[in-house]
Amino acid sequence: MIYLDNNATTQVDRRVLEKMNLFHVEQYGNPNAVHSMGVTAARAMEESRRKIASLIEALPSEVYFTSSATEAINWAIRSSVCFKGKRNKVVVSSIEHKAVLNTIKDLANTEGILVEQVRPRKGGIVSVEDLVRHVDDNTFMVCLMAVNNVLGTIQPFEEVANALLERDVFYLVDAVQTVGKIPFSVRSSKCSFAAFSAHKFHGPKGAGTLFISSETRRRPFITGGGQESGMRSGTQDVAGIVGMAEAMEIAVDELDRVVPKMRELRNYMASSVRKLGGIINGDMSSSIPNMVNISFPKIKGEVLANALSDAGVCVATSSACSARSESSQKILEDAGTLPEIASGAIRISMSRFTTLEEIQSFIEILSNVVAVLQI
Ligand code: PLP
Repeated sequence: MIYLDNNATTQVDRRVLEKMNLFHVEQYGNPNAVHSMGVTAARAMEESRRKIASLIEALPSEVYFTSSATEAINWAIRSSVCFKGKRNKVVVSSIEHKAVLNTIKDLANTEGILVEQVRPRKGGIVSVEDLVRHVDDNTFMVCLMAVNNVLGTIQPFEEVANALLERDVFYLVDAVQTVGKIPFSVRSSKCSFAAFSAHKFHGPKGAGTLFISSETRRRPFITGGGQESGMRSGTQDVAGIVGMAEAMEIAVDELDRVVPKMRELRNYMASSVRKLGGIINGDMSSSIPNMVNISFPKIKGEVLANALSDAGVCVATSSACSARSESSQKILEDAGTLPEIASGAIRISMSRFTTLEEIQSFIEILSNVVAVLQI
C-alpha cells in the first residue's frame, strides 16, 4: 500500500505512541484529581501546554485543548458572535474548510449573520486587497486559512493581519495544514484565534488545539466541571494531549530537514505528471511542499482515485471529511480551474515518511492506470 493522502490524516509516529501509551495504561489518573496519579497526569498535560505554546509562540494560558480543529473553529466563531454588538458581518475566503463555512452558514440561518465570501485569484491565493475591501464597520470577524487543504496554496494570513491591525475585528486563522510543512507563529500572524489538529502531523485523532490571544474576549464553549480554565469543560484526554505536543515538537524540530526532501519529491512528481499529459492545479510556486493537486483531461477524479486504490495507492478526490461532496470541485473552480479539469482533480499528499521509491512506484502505477482509463 502506498499512502499519499497525508493532508487528510497521517500515521501516528511511533515515538508519539510510546509517550501516549504511558498515560493510557500506567499514569491514567484524572488530571483534575488531587491524588498523586492525578497530579502526574496534570503535570504532563501542563507540560504539553507549555510545549505547544512555545512552538507556536503563544503563552501557555492562551492554549486550550479541544477534540479536533473542527471543534476549535466552532468555538472561535461561536464565541465571537457573543461579542459582536450591533455588528453583523463575517468576511471569509470562499476556500475555507467546511468547519468554517458550515459553522458560519449555521449562524447565518440561526442568528441572521451576514456572510461575505471572497474568492481567491487564479491559482488559489486570496488577495489581501480583495479581502480587506469587504471589511467595514459592520464586520466583527474575518477568517482566513493559512494553507488551503485542497490546493496546498499558502494564503497571505500575515499580511491580512497587518491590514486588520487598526480594525476591531476577531481574526481566525485555520492553521491546520501548516504544522510540519511551513513555519507558523501566532505572534507573527497576529491573530485572535488559531486552530490546530494533531492527526494532521503524526499525532492522534481526537486532539486539537485552539489558541486564543490573551487580548481576545472569549466565551466558554462547553460548560460543566470547569476544565480548561472554565472554558471547555470535560475531562481532558491526557494521552491525546501529550501525543499532540510530542508530535508537534517533532514536526517543528524536523521541519528544516524534511521540507527540502518533500519539495524535491513533489517537484519530481509534478514533472512526471506533466510528462504523462497531466495538469497541475493551483499555484505550485506558493504552496506547501508535500503535495500536488493534479488532473488528467477526460478522466474523472473519482474514477482515477478508485483505479489507483485498486492498484494499492491511496489519494484524495476531496477534503477527507466531505469526500463525497462537491467541495473540492468548488474550491478548484473558485481558483480559476475549468470545471471539466476540476472534476478530474486528485490530491496527492506526502508525509515526512514518504520515500523516493514510493513516489517512483506511484508514478509507474499512475502511468499504467491513466493509459487504461484514457482508452
Ligand atoms: N481545517 C483544515 C484546513 C483541514 O484540512 C481540516 C481537516 O481536514 C480541518 C480544518 C478539520 O480538522 P479536524 O479533522 O481536526 O476536525
